[in-house]
Amino acid sequence: MKKIYFTPGPTQLYPTVKKHILDALKKDITSISHRSAQFEKIVENTQIDLRKLLNIPTDYQIFFLSSGTEAMERTIENTVLKQSFHFVNGAFSERWQKTSRGLGKEALDLKIDRGDSFDFDNTQIPGETELICFTHNETSTGVMLNPEQIYALKKKHPDKLVAVDIVSSAPYVNLDYSKIDMAFFSAQKGFGLPAGLGILVVSPKAMEKSADLPDKNPRTYHSFTTLEKYMEKHQTPETPNVLGVYLLSKVCKDMLKRRIKKIRKETDAKFEELDNFLEESEVFSHFVKDQNYRSRTVIVSEVKSGSEKLLQHLEKQGVIVGSGYKENKNKQIRIANFPATDIIEWQKMITVLHEFK
Ligand SMILES: *Cc1c(COP(=O)(O)O)cnc(C)c1O
Repeated sequence: MKKIYFTPGPTQLYPTVKKHILDALKKDITSISHRSAQFEKIVENTQIDLRKLLNIPTDYQIFFLSSGTEAMERTIENTVLKQSFHFVNGAFSERWQKTSRGLGKEALDLKIDRGDSFDFDNTQIPGETELICFTHNETSTGVMLNPEQIYALKKKHPDKLVAVDIVSSAPYVNLDYSKIDMAFFSAQKGFGLPAGLGILVVSPKAMEKSADLPDKNPRTYHSFTTLEKYMEKHQTPETPNVLGVYLLSKVCKDMLKRRIKKIRKETDAKFEELDNFLEESEVFSHFVKDQNYRSRTVIVSEVKSGSEKLLQHLEKQGVIVGSGYKENKNKQIRIANFPATDIIEWQKMITVLHEFK
């Protein structure tokens, strides 16, 4: 039976990707030099289309890295001398904070229980904080922040930089990049691509901060300045994931054709259907109780009888969803609502959930 992956990454490939991979092999994309004009053209086109798709300002840099996790390290190394501040509500926001600690920084936090929402209005951020880190969509718990609250906090602290992890909400999230300084995502989530490519967007202000940090601040494996120097030639310092960049350029084109507005609307419509089902169900219940913070792209549900038997039942029908994260592995399921799956596949998944008693 054909399987459909509703897993929060890696996940179902975007429908056109298999064809693009075959084309890439025919065109020897995996053998071309990363210093060739052919590759430079691919990078240039990817950047142009990403800017169009996500509405990224032209004075913001777009860098290609190896993963979302690498982007966490790049943001800290390049914009923090002493202190970062983290809004921690799950495993990924915690990973970012640990990354900062690992780099020897003072990584302060506002830590709340899994599934809860932050009290933004009453959060004190110390004057020495240089970078504020938000995980827009906490994939481990299914909590999605409202970008307006992130902008409001930036407005309150215009001297500080703000970075946003949008790994599991891009391209759904309609960010106003001009109101933040950095954002990053990776290929194997909402873009429905193979893993191994991270994308980092950087504001002129964050570029400046990186350049101004003293030399002793370690920025060995990619200072923003080095990344920029290479990107001027549409290259990367190291040999990048050439196939990944090629596939991203193709999927950006496909998504532009489908229209991003429509993709976002379809994501909302798919969410509504699952949301209604979970609200009514006696077997399943939303982990995130506050509707305003329920993720549209990664929906986390408690399973009354535990998730182990359910996952087997689903797999028999060709439906693959994610298990709960770490300690909730056997108690919850996580369902990715990414653009790669259409409404018919989505409804099939809900029907198969419904059949589980
Ligand atoms: C998956 C994920 C990451 C890690 O991305 P990688 O590309 O696997 O390093 C970071 N943040 C969030 C919110 C994620 O969902």
